[in-house]
Amino acid sequence: DLWKCDSLEKANAFIRARNGGPIHLHNFIDGKFQGSPEAKRINSHEPKTGKILYTVPDSPETTVEEAIRAAKDIFPAWSKTSRAVRSKLLMTVAELLRQNRELFAVWESIDQGKMIERARVEVDRAISNFEYFATFILHEQTAARIIDGVALTYEHRSPAGVFALISPWNMPLYLLTWKIAPCLAFGCTAVAKPSEVTSMSAFLLASVFQDAEVPRGVINIVFGSGATTGAPLVSSPMINGVSFTGGTETGKAIRKATAHQIGKHLSLELGGKNPTLVFADSRTGSTASWQRAIKVAAMAAFENQGEICLCGSRVYVESAIYAEFVRDFTSYVREHYVLGKTLGAVASFEHYNKIQGYLRIAKEENAAFLLGNVADTVDGTQCKETGYWIEPTVLTGVPETSRLQSEEIFGPVVTITPFDSEEEAIRLANNSEYGLAVVLLTTDGARMRRVGEQLEAGLVWVNSWLTRELGTPFGGMKNSGTGREGGEYSRDVFTVIRTIHLPTI
Ligand code: NAD
Repeated sequence: DLWKCDSLEKANAFIRARNGGPIHLHNFIDGKFQGSPEAKRINSHEPKTGKILYTVPDSPETTVEEAIRAAKDIFPAWSKTSRAVRSKLLMTVAELLRQNRELFAVWESIDQGKMIERARVEVDRAISNFEYFATFILHEQTAARIIDGVALTYEHRSPAGVFALISPWNMPLYLLTWKIAPCLAFGCTAVAKPSEVTSMSAFLLASVFQDAEVPRGVINIVFGSGATTGAPLVSSPMINGVSFTGGTETGKAIRKATAHQIGKHLSLELGGKNPTLVFADSRTGSTASWQRAIKVAAMAAFENQGEICLCGSRVYVESAIYAEFVRDFTSYVREHYVLGKTLGAVASFEHYNKIQGYLRIAKEENAAFLLGNVADTVDGTQCKETGYWIEPTVLTGVPETSRLQSEEIFGPVVTITPFDSEEEAIRLANNSEYGLAVVLLTTDGARMRRVGEQLEAGLVWVNSWLTRELGTPFGGMKNSGTGREGGEYSRDVFTVIRTIHLPTI
């Protein structure tokens, strides 16, 4: 029984006992797990071994419609439930997740390729997602104003309707619950579609919703590919809003597919090519500031195998300390990011090949590989049997014109490049179609603000990375997305506003 596998040993024994045969996951529609006999099935592989772990249905439009219909039918009742009721349900979901923390962490790690410690952090964050919005709605207020003494106006907010919630494969549970929690908290209903590459945690989560007695239809989970399942979901006229996290090209496709539905709420959290700026004052400050700079730059580059949209994959270092940084950074990474111990496997065979493609370009362009290398096998076919492992890769001598400096690799690969002045650092950082996040490493307080406020990025971390309070706005500029999520910003995504004018004379 999948639900008894709350340790890696038990999960491995469970996998072995199936004689290699995959587990078949079913959609969760209208409160029930349903097989989809008419759907083709998609194989999902275990990144650390390359073996097929489970299959999901590639749910066709008819199944998607059935799920949307369930969410639409229950919407009038759910949207009228009190905030106290919704808050309590979300707290129950959080509590059930907490009770099954290890089970979720184990399967997330097996499914995505991440290390178990990282998976635990993400399950904890999923729990916070539910707790945060359960609390938020109890304290939320809306604005009221008196205009020239003649009218009292107030903002009336109501749930925006039925949402499509679509998530990527890099932090499956964490990112899907970041959408489901506010969606349900603000009184909307949903059809959620996790990535076909990593569907396991969404499947387990559906059981939690059942156990928490979330009314049937409020949250439905359908599995499948973007083309077969995602596309009809986002463009359905019954869908009032889309909250999407994934690649920029998919974001563009969703915007195009919904362009004629002007009132459809769209929140798009997309890709990044995030710079880390290291100023010389980090070195001339205390030893602690230097060690911190090295550690933060390495974490930003390699956490979760570089498969976080916020990862800093372009490191720019002030020339005066460039050689020293390269030396200390490389030895830190060699010591702290070890395959199979602190660095997992990348998520899929396709993704492995994509990353290898970039490494081949780096070889052809004569970049220096200070750590890592291109795989021996030409197209990585051997790794189909052994898992999708890529050594942490540190490259220097990569020109700004290289595709490695402009395209999102989304793997354990970082480039290091020198700069000469603050102006040049800002220019290099902003020289990207993306604008998601920047890490700024400096001990100069005035520079933190001066540079920070000129960066074209939705998030700027100074001497830190990935820390976050769930009420702060999260999102990117330029091709990294549109809209912000978090606290009251999520409320904007999931509610509609009417301004009511009451005459006072
Ligand atoms: P992806 O865009 O390929 O897929 C994301 C999801 O969209 C999947 O569930 C997929 O099935 C679905 N999808 C694909 N085509 C669709 C379509 N036409 N209509 C509707 N749904 C469709 O992204 P991915 O490869 O799974 O994830 C990696 C990307 O996600 C990276 O670019 C990364 O930067 C980005 N990401 C962004 C954030 C953020 O918050 N900005 C967070 C994590 C990941």
